[in-house]
Amino acid sequence: SDLYKTEEEIDLMSRSNNLVARTLGEISKAIAPGISTLSLDKIAEEYIRDNGAIPAFLGYDGFPNTLCISINNQVVHGVPSSYELKEGDIVSCDCGVLLNGFYGDSAYTFSVGTVKPEIQQLLKVTKEALYKGIEKAVEGNHLRDIGFAIQKHAEKNDYSVVREMVGHGIGKSLHEDPQVPNYGRQGRGLKLRDGLVLAIEPMINLGKRDIYQEDDGWTIVTADGQASAHFEHTIVVRKGKAQILSGFEFIEE
Ligand code: MG
Ligand code: MG
Repeated sequence: SDLYKTEEEIDLMSRSNNLVARTLGEISKAIAPGISTLSLDKIAEEYIRDNGAIPAFLGYDGFPNTLCISINNQVVHGVPSSYELKEGDIVSCDCGVLLNGFYGDSAYTFSVGTVKPEIQQLLKVTKEALYKGIEKAVEGNHLRDIGFAIQKHAEKNDYSVVREMVGHGIGKSLHEDPQVPNYGRQGRGLKLRDGLVLAIEPMINLGKRDIYQEDDGWTIVTADGQASAHFEHTIVVRKGKAQILSGFEFIEE
């Protein structure tokens, strides 16, 4: 089925996701108290276009910007604005590009200066949960093994998993089948095979899992007002070990 990509397609997707990774690296250099989220968005848009690609989220269902930027209690789909980052904020930047006909998609939650230890721990655990999910994305496992591993790690740390929004297949479209929930039961769902490309993206809340959408029609926030973190990689299911196409090395180096 066309859920599965050829090696030629995966090579193109690797380039798309490398550009996403480098764009997030550019963003990480600019993140500091006093910069507006709209300025971060402009940096990303310019970098993506300078590299011959198209921002994937701009105009998607009418989304007005290049990045989804979600601060503190905002979970995902935050709209860039004149809001200026301040010391102690956390800021999730979700980036997608279209390059050579294929999409890339990745997200990272950054700290602005020094954040409270309990918030730093939320970021650490959410990123760990992403990698625990990726570990399960190997041939022979089932789709829900990914969400099971993510949920287990989050809940072991007394956090909660957002259920309403999920990861997804990705390729010539930004969102393809299958959906990839960040919770679930082991051994359920699609049997995974080499060449399936997935965007895995846990959204983990410090408090309760409930969320709602703000009046802007985009921004998703936690119902209890507590912090939320979001990390995302685009990966390929492989035999033995998943291949990560995006990367945080440009952020973390
Ligand atoms: Mg994304
Ligand atoms: Mg995604």
